[in-house]
Amino acid sequence: MQLLDGKATSEQLKAEIAEKVAAIKAANGKVPHLAAVIVGNDGGSHTYVNNKVLTCEQLGFDSTLIALPEDTSEADLLQKVDELNNNDEIDGFIVQVPLPKHIDENKITEAISPDKDVDGFHPENLGRMMLGLPTYISATPNGILELLKRNGIKTSGKHCVVVGRSNIVGTPMSILMSRNAEPGNCTVTMVHSRTQNMQEICASADILIVAIGKPEFIKADMVKPGAVVIDVGTTRVPDTSKPKGFALKGDVDFEGIKDKCSFITPVPGGVGPMTIASLMQNTLLAQERRAEAENNN
Ligand code: NAP
Repeated sequence: MQLLDGKATSEQLKAEIAEKVAAIKAANGKVPHLAAVIVGNDGGSHTYVNNKVLTCEQLGFDSTLIALPEDTSEADLLQKVDELNNNDEIDGFIVQVPLPKHIDENKITEAISPDKDVDGFHPENLGRMMLGLPTYISATPNGILELLKRNGIKTSGKHCVVVGRSNIVGTPMSILMSRNAEPGNCTVTMVHSRTQNMQEICASADILIVAIGKPEFIKADMVKPGAVVIDVGTTRVPDTSKPKGFALKGDVDFEGIKDKCSFITPVPGGVGPMTIASLMQNTLLAQERRAEAENNN
């Protein structure tokens, strides 16, 4: 088994981004600017957003963190989105999900300008991805593609099983793995909570990508010998032996599977760091596109 080290691969990618940012800054004094909006007090969400802001600093980006209280109304959040859409200082922004229950996530996603939607969640960007047009590909699926590409994993002609059908991971991942590109060109099966014969389908995968949020759900009998296993899941499981009182668990039984597969991502240190690097890549792209549009005007 070979570890697919997302931390090391993301460091490579981030170094390339930082180099481009330094060159742009030297040429015109500008750097990409990412804003992140977070609503409420969810510990996991605050950790993710703080990591994104820290990575901005690391790579020479500007960043703005907007923390709003749990009881922020949908109307007030829509107004904040509108302000960010119209703020020329901001190249791209994200609204961290999940949002409190009283806010309709779809309404917020649709209100974000597709040009600044560096999470790639807007219907227009998802549609463009479907058609293979220039877009922002959502950070987690894009990070997984980079991880496969940069570790030399060939995907063409392989059977890829994607477990989970969320709008931010499973569904875009299944489309990307089936597109006519490398990575891609897979025969894709998507499975979800209503799927029958889960064990049999997963055990037939050459590439198994799991995003369900069920700690250690995928056991050794669900993995084909020699498979590539990508574990997207990150669930906080109480663990008093850890300084923070919890351990981060993936959707895959890593210890039970590691000797059976050819490649496997660890949790933490696999898909998570690639997701953040990918968001930075999208923000740099947003800045480049804005600069190009300004030059053409
Ligand atoms: P989600 O919205 O939580 O949805 C879970 C999906 O898993 C649903 O499609 C559900 O099926 C499916 N599912 C649940 N139980 C199942 C089962 N027993 N068998 C088969 N399918 C099952 O998904 P998500 O937002 O993609 O998150 C999934 C996990 O990935 C979470 O742990 C999340 O924290 C993690 N995540 C990590 C990153 C990262 O950067 N590392 C990024 C995003 C998400 P139904 O549709 O039928 O209900």
